[in-house]
Amino acid sequence: MNNTQFANLQTTLEELTFVQLKRLRQHIEDMISSNHVGKAIAVHEEGVAECAHCGSQEFTKYGTTARGQQRYKCKVCGRTFNSLTGTPLSGMKKQDKWHQYSEGMWFTAKIREAASELGINVKTAWRWRHQLLSKPRQRKPSELHGIIEADETFINESFKGKRQLERPSRKRGVKSHDIPKVPVMLALDRNGAVTHCVLQRNTREELEKSLAPVLTPESVLCTDGNLSYQTIVKNLPFELDHKRLIAIDNQRVIDGIYHIQTLNNWMMRWKQWLRQFNGVGTDYLDNYIAWFRQMEQSQKDDSWVVLAL
Ligand SMILES: [Zn+2]
Repeated sequence: MNNTQFANLQTTLEELTFVQLKRLRQHIEDMISSNHVGKAIAVHEEGVAECAHCGSQEFTKYGTTARGQQRYKCKVCGRTFNSLTGTPLSGMKKQDKWHQYSEGMWFTAKIREAASELGINVKTAWRWRHQLLSKPRQRKPSELHGIIEADETFINESFKGKRQLERPSRKRGVKSHDIPKVPVMLALDRNGAVTHCVLQRNTREELEKSLAPVLTPESVLCTDGNLSYQTIVKNLPFELDHKRLIAIDNQRVIDGIYHIQTLNNWMMRWKQWLRQFNGVGTDYLDNYIAWFRQMEQSQKDDSWVVLAL
């Protein structure tokens, strides 16, 4: 369409009624959505290298799916698959709504609002959220370098999202210090790599299992005074410079650069963002860290549909 035609189209739009405009907006959003998602899937499709079921590289094209996607048939196991088989997107129906839903994940976390706006039910919206987060959750740096900050934080245990409660639900008015806390290990380096681990128990062993593998020689580890970190550093197969920032001495920064404030600020932003959910189920805590981590690292126009592939 050339510029004149486009200008004419805009003039014509002025004749529309309010209701027609709203219908048009919905239509345009659907079009953008299927374009965007379609593009992401097409790019992903180019990378199909093996059978989603058995991993064999011997497969042929085999018609298309109802959604118009290329289908393949494996010569070894005989099963069919498409480029989304085995990805979190394959379980999500209503492809035309994905883009809009995924856009919403940057701005509001209110599942009911998202559901009613898109005309999907709350359970579906909830399932999509966690499906879209399953890949970002696994996308953790395997190593941290340079100045590394590590710390633990504690989040109230919650059975939200569980079908059956393992114990009677808490009565209102229970004091916050009576609620069991779930320990979370967080570590980052100054290059922007962030990793985390939801721990089963608050023990040195658990902390070590999640932190030691990401530590690298010639780095400097900054922690608080927790003695566990001393043992973790001692147990490493290499020498590691360890700076303990002991708050009681009021010595929050060593040599002007060694501190854990980058991490503490990160945690503060995360906890503030987390507040909107009014408590998150412990089983899903991992996803809510990954979600925030991804938002801090991506651009706002990155689609969660693309991030989920
Ligand atoms: Zn196969």
